[in-house]
Amino acid sequence: MGQYVIAGNWKMNKTPAEAAALIEEIKPLVKDASCKVVVGTPFIDLQAALDATAGTNIGVAAQNCYWEKSGAFTGEISADMLAKMGVQYVILGHSERRTFFGDNDLTVQKRVRGALDAGLTVILCVGEYLEQREQGITGEICAMQTKIALGGVSAEEMSRVIIAYEPVWAIGTGKTATAEQANEVCHLIRETLAGLYGADVAAATTIQYGGSMNAGNAAELLAQPDVDGGLIGGASLKANDFATIVAAAK
Ligand code: PEP
Repeated sequence: MGQYVIAGNWKMNKTPAEAAALIEEIKPLVKDASCKVVVGTPFIDLQAALDATAGTNIGVAAQNCYWEKSGAFTGEISADMLAKMGVQYVILGHSERRTFFGDNDLTVQKRVRGALDAGLTVILCVGEYLEQREQGITGEICAMQTKIALGGVSAEEMSRVIIAYEPVWAIGTGKTATAEQANEVCHLIRETLAGLYGADVAAATTIQYGGSMNAGNAAELLAQPDVDGGLIGGASLKANDFATIVAAAK
């Protein structure tokens, strides 16, 4: 299926000095990785992360961006600004942004547009709340979030889109989706992409699982046919755990 990508989402953790130190620990551990490796840092750490990863196989992601290029948007950071400083990836639509900061499918769509226009690669997060899973509407929710976020995105641009299936009930809770649950929804997202863009684009798109993935459960999750990598929160802050997950992504 898609190329394996293991991305860390550091959330609101690490100062620039701490970020550089963690990357120095990670670098030798992942230098022979057979997947793409990305670290998603807070905005203030991006320059330190770019400096520390220069010339390595580690890419750098921001955790959000605004869709306008510049202007009177106090406190925001544009996709253009990120791209111009050398950032390659941006995580968009994370459930913590949707739950705590008012992001919704339409603002995620605008952020995706802005990020692609700026030349970034998007890691687009979709996933259901526990109540939605219990109602039996996981498939509908994930398909809808995917379709709305990708509104206006062309088949060519899909080479710069990674989808992360992240069941909200599994994020930061220690409750991981079973490998079967993860694969089932990643497969459904792939079918959604096939409906939008055709089978070739769907097959080539990286679809990650995220939600309490760790050094112990990564191998089983990553062995699923429709799981092409992981978006890792807590475990990405520990160099050895993150490296174990990277090694499991073959
Ligand atoms: C995340 O933040 O995207 C995530 C998956 O977090 P955790 O691995 O801590 O559940």
